Amino acid sequence: MEKRGTGGAALRDGALRDRVTIITGGGTGLGLRTAEVFAALGAKLVLASRSREHLDPAAARLRELGAEVLVVPTDVADPHQTRALAGAALERFGRIDILINNAAGNFVRPAERLPEAAFAKVVDIVLCGTFNCSRAVSRAMIEQGSGVILNIVAAYAWHGGPGTVHSACAKAGVLAMTRTLAVEWSRHGIRVVAIAPGPLATEGAGDRLWPSAELEETVRRSIPLQRFATLDEVANASAFLVSDHASYITGDVLTVDGGGWLGRGILGNDPTAAVPVVRRRRRQPRS
Ligand code: NAP
Repeated sequence: MEKRGTGGAALRDGALRDRVTIITGGGTGLGLRTAEVFAALGAKLVLASRSREHLDPAAARLRELGAEVLVVPTDVADPHQTRALAGAALERFGRIDILINNAAGNFVRPAERLPEAAFAKVVDIVLCGTFNCSRAVSRAMIEQGSGVILNIVAAYAWHGGPGTVHSACAKAGVLAMTRTLAVEWSRHGIRVVAIAPGPLATEGAGDRLWPSAELEETVRRSIPLQRFATLDEVANASAFLVSDHASYITGDVLTVDGGGWLGRGILGNDPTAAVPVVRRRRRQPRS
């Protein structure tokens, strides 16, 4: 029998028609798949990351799907470049409806062996980069009186991430930024939301975060749904959150992780073990 409930159809065609969407890190992995899903829903796309080797083939693929695409090589850690990114998007499309702060860097390293400069670099890309891009698009969104900013975080923003202290701290900051700007910019009609994906089988993540098959299996077994997220499952959740179907949602984070962040309480570490049926012990009558 067909197994249902593992991704399925996206929103209705045209749900993001003509929405001008900037996606940082849009040339690879989740960013690229999100761009493809958004293109299918009618969005106009601006892809931004450092490397043309990532951006140009991605843009060619999206154009084959019929999308209008602008490529703007950008280092999100540099505010001059993020201002130029917003300027280029406005010059080409005349407005900015959606910003997806997806660019990131991550790897596993024990904190005591993590160079201070590497910690600062990840914070620069993830936390400062998210602020730089948000600030850069804010003027256009405020003038329009509308806009959506979607930040890609991870559940270790709130439960911690041993081995990735740099990324966990940066994502926790992005979550605080999501909630802060959601309130601060609400009067301008801007929504600010976040998605926390669970482990994704992207090339970038696999090589750096679970480099051996054994480690990959350990990660998979820790997830109640017993599998990694597909890119479509996360991209579809993003499409929903930025669409008008989610027009009353702001300042919140949608966790798309197969239940991975949830604990088992006192019942042990195996998330799929059945809850035991326990009979209460009978008290011995007092003699
Ligand atoms: P990925 O394929 O490694 O993509 C990262 C992207 O960020 C690349 O396109 C890279 O492009 C861009 N980037 C890096 N530094 C940049 C900078 N300074 N300026 C501009 N762009 C920069 O990663 P992914 O696995 O798809 O992850 C996408 C998002 O999901 C990230 O925010 C990640 O933290 C989050 N996430 C992923 C997982 C997972 O398991 N994969 C789990 C939870 C959350 P260039 O090299 O061209 O700059």
